[in-house]
Amino acid sequence: MANKNTHKVSEDHCSFCGRPRSQTRLLLSGLNGFICDSCAEQASQIIKETYATPSKFDIHLDNLPSPKEIKKELDQYVIGQEEAKKVLSVAVYNHYKRLQYSAGKAQTDEVEIEKSNIIIVGETGTGKTLLARTIARSLHVPFAIADATTLTEAGYVGDDVENVLVRLLQAADYDVAAAEKGIVFIDEIDKIARKSDNPSITRDVSGEGVQQALLKLLEGAVVNVPPKGGRKHPEQEMIAVDTRNILFISGGAFDGIERHIASRIKSNVIGFNGTKTREEIDRHNMLRYLLPHDLKRFGLIPELVGRFPMLTHLNPLDREALLRILTEPKNALVKQYQMLFHIDGVELHFDPSALDAVVDTAIEFKLGARGLRAIMENTLTDYMFGIRSLKGKQLVITRDDVIKHNTDMDQE
Ligand code: ADP
Repeated sequence: MANKNTHKVSEDHCSFCGRPRSQTRLLLSGLNGFICDSCAEQASQIIKETYATPSKFDIHLDNLPSPKEIKKELDQYVIGQEEAKKVLSVAVYNHYKRLQYSAGKAQTDEVEIEKSNIIIVGETGTGKTLLARTIARSLHVPFAIADATTLTEAGYVGDDVENVLVRLLQAADYDVAAAEKGIVFIDEIDKIARKSDNPSITRDVSGEGVQQALLKLLEGAVVNVPPKGGRKHPEQEMIAVDTRNILFISGGAFDGIERHIASRIKSNVIGFNGTKTREEIDRHNMLRYLLPHDLKRFGLIPELVGRFPMLTHLNPLDREALLRILTEPKNALVKQYQMLFHIDGVELHFDPSALDAVVDTAIEFKLGARGLRAIMENTLTDYMFGIRSLKGKQLVITRDDVIKHNTDMDQE
């Protein structure tokens, strides 16, 4: 009769940790051995860690492009706006250099480099969003756009300010570390200006309160973000996001800010050519003299202005710029439509007079660059509808084509 010990020896063992079957939850058998559940789990973990797919937002701080290289990338997509492109390239470069510096900094008593959030002032449709988007794409960082007009103070109807970060988290596929180095573009920041220059005594739901709430994000704080956003899912677990290293770029048209600039310049002759009459100084020229003080006069609270150390402006797009936008950028509309037609075997060409007509229509109906796409779409819809019958042919779009299909733009 076998004694207790011989029985034990004959029990199957995990070939990795040696545990007998009786001490495992599961013992899987192979050709020449066994593996227990806990060793299998460990092995799976090791495989996962070894072959983990890198985050799609690997931010290579070591080989950051130089400001000149960043601007070169912007040049491929954004026409004109040289000043703004330069300011943005430097600001973004410094931002990531700062990240690099603070990551390698062991002691806290070294110089603290503050971040350089940016405000871009310029008419709607002049490329504010395009600039921010292009920068984010070229640096492979998560990027989110938030509209300041939808934000309200906590407790009011509308989006809580934290929702700005929800979009960033979503853009980062919930990779919190990547989101914490991302870029947020806050559009229409001018719309949350307080209505008068005097701090209000009563609460100003639309403006000042939101500015105060935004301050928290801009100053750098650990903010609890509801991952699904909104207040509709109160049960969801919050994700803590540190905003210290998130770059905030704000944009706004700041309609009427010229008045503040003009009155400041008038009372302070420095930098102003006294021979110019008021009429001679157009908005374009005025924005060149823009200072943080003017944003305060416009209704942004001083603390908020202080959190945007970089200030730049965009020029209104003239005829020549609109024409260039149609053809020059890497993904110019003309190139896009040519590709669309090419896929169906049609060679699409635009007569120069047709492009002139597209631009004239955009100017006539005050649509700016945003209108170009709609005008092109109107012009080409019929041809796209019958595209199969054009296969193998060459199609030249004329001025008449544009005019015929865009006579009623203002009714759209
Ligand atoms: P904004 O944010 O200033 O209101 P956008 O950046 O959204 O304007 O611009 C609207 C569209 O107009 C862009 O998608 C782009 O196609 C075009 N656009 C505007 N400005 C430029 C520019 N400077 N260069 C190239 N395209 C431009």
